[in-house]
Amino acid sequence: MSTRAYWTDSWNPVTGCTPCSPGCDHCYARAMADSRLRGKFGYPEERPFQPGVVHPEKFALPLTWRKPRLVFVGNMGDLFHEQVAFPVIQQVFRTMRACHLAGLGHIFLLLTKRPARMLEFFERAAEQDFLAPNYWTGVTAENDRLMQERMPYLLQCPGPHWLSYEPALGPLDSLHLYLGDRLAVDGRLTDGLSWVAAGGENGRQARLSLAYDFNMAALDCALAGVPWFFKGAGSACQPSVTNEHARLDAETMRQHMPVAFDQWANVLCEGAR
Ligand code: SF4
Repeated sequence: MSTRAYWTDSWNPVTGCTPCSPGCDHCYARAMADSRLRGKFGYPEERPFQPGVVHPEKFALPLTWRKPRLVFVGNMGDLFHEQVAFPVIQQVFRTMRACHLAGLGHIFLLLTKRPARMLEFFERAAEQDFLAPNYWTGVTAENDRLMQERMPYLLQCPGPHWLSYEPALGPLDSLHLYLGDRLAVDGRLTDGLSWVAAGGENGRQARLSLAYDFNMAALDCALAGVPWFFKGAGSACQPSVTNEHARLDAETMRQHMPVAFDQWANVLCEGAR
């Protein structure tokens, strides 16, 4: 939600948001709405990034895409913001279901920093006819504390589940607890994380991210057999990671950053003895 989703197609039937987390400080969507989009394409002239702005003309857009796409839902806001009414969210799900029924093959990625409200939506929506199996639910976590806060809600939502570790502002020491097929949450078995995407901040005000933190998270994913997608280290990563290292998998990272990786692997081996 905070950076350009260059790796997917974006679909924004609802836009706008308010900051709720340190990761929001340099929100890409807000910067875009406040500048290039202000007063255009359905973004209000006054408060262009106000939450809950509905773009009716966008609701059926995925139905016009005839080839299967990976679709990021709402990278210009947070679909589960408190000011987006549940009937509006239902409309989004109706389109996703229609795509499924039409056999279009799209996969929709949902991402929020408000997983409690996403869970509330699913609890109210249970057994209703607008749900379909063609979406993944995800949360953003920029550090370990926020991941621990948000994951219990996410894991009670329908899966598959994914995590956006972006902007990475601290280590994810607990990540290994949430990876894998079967986890116990509130006495129920559920799927853990099936995919982790990560990245650092870009731009003049970019905050520090550590290659070591990326490396450890990638290693956790590798050990659990969970795909890791490295979007890029950002412009303030230490030690710096060149662009050619971006978007590589954990094995390639291992080759480029052998010291950090091997040190961590040794720690793991020591702990296992
Ligand atoms: S939750 Fe996402 S869209 Fe909303 S302000 Fe934060 S970064 Fe921006």
